[in-house]
Amino acid sequence: MAAMELTTSAGMPVSTVPLIDGHTHVDQYDGAEIEGVLERASAAGVGLIIAAGVSIPSSRRIQVLAESHPIVRAGVGIHPSDLPPVVDGAVEAELRRLAEHPAVAVWSETGLDALPASPPADLQQRAFRMQIRLAREFALPLVVHSRGTDAEVLRALREEGASEVGGAWHYFGGDLRLADAIVDLGFHVSFAKTLLRSTELQAVAAQVPLERVVIETDSYPQPFKKKRQRWTEPWNLPQVAAKLAEVKGVAPDEIGRAATANYLRMARSRLANLALPLSVRAQPASASRA
Ligand SMILES: [Zn+2]
Repeated sequence: MAAMELTTSAGMPVSTVPLIDGHTHVDQYDGAEIEGVLERASAAGVGLIIAAGVSIPSSRRIQVLAESHPIVRAGVGIHPSDLPPVVDGAVEAELRRLAEHPAVAVWSETGLDALPASPPADLQQRAFRMQIRLAREFALPLVVHSRGTDAEVLRALREEGASEVGGAWHYFGGDLRLADAIVDLGFHVSFAKTLLRSTELQAVAAQVPLERVVIETDSYPQPFKKKRQRWTEPWNLPQVAAKLAEVKGVAPDEIGRAATANYLRMARSRLANLALPLSVRAQPASASRA
C-alpha cells in the first residue's frame, strides 16, 4: 500500500508522508483564521509550514506565531517589493538580531522583482546581496523570489557565493535552462500549484532531479477570490505532491519523502533531527509532565 494516498472524502487530499510547505505567508491570514489554516494543513498531512518574512515587522510577527505553534517555522528577510527607502546598517543589524531566533529555518523572502511599482533596481540589488551575505553568515539557506529578473537573481547568487548555503527558487515557473542553472548552483526548484495547470511547467518538472525538488503553496489571504474555500492554503500541498508524482512517473509517497528529505537537508543548520509531523499548538507545560 502506498504510504501517501489521496482521499477526497472530506474534500481534501491527504498525505500520510509528512510534507513540508516550504514557502507560505500563513501569518498574513486574519488572526481568527490562522488556527483553522494550520489545523486543516495538519489534517491533510502537512507536518511543517515555513512562513516567509517580507519585512522586519512581519519577520518578527512570524517568530511570535511560531513560539506558540510548533508546526510553523520562520523565514527572516525583506521582500524586494517591501524594501524601506533606505537599507542601511540599522536594517542590517535588525535582520541579524531576527536571524538568531530559534524558530528561523531559512533566509526568506529575498530576491528581485521587476514589476513597475517595485523599488529602484539598485536598491533591490544592494538589499538582496546584503541578505545573501547575511544568510551565509548565519548558515541559512536562501529561499529566493524572482519576477522578471531571473538572470539578475542567478548572477547575484553566483557572485555572492550563495552556493555555500544553497536554498530554493520559490514559485518556480521557468524553463528547463533556468531549472538547470538553479540545480548547477546547488539550489532546489520549488513547485507550487501552478504545476497543476501548466503543461509547460509539468514538462520541465519531469526533468528536474528528484533530489532537487521541494514543494510549496505560497499561501496568503486571497480576498479577490469570491469563495473563501478557493483560497490557497497549505492543505492544498498534497495536490502539488500528487501532480509532481504523476509527471515524474513515480509513486506519490516517493515524492513526499524526497521533497521532505530535501528540505530538511537544505535547512539542516536549523532543522537537523527534526521529527515530523509537528503539532499545531504548543503543549502546555503541565501536560508534558503527565
Ligand atoms: Zn512569498
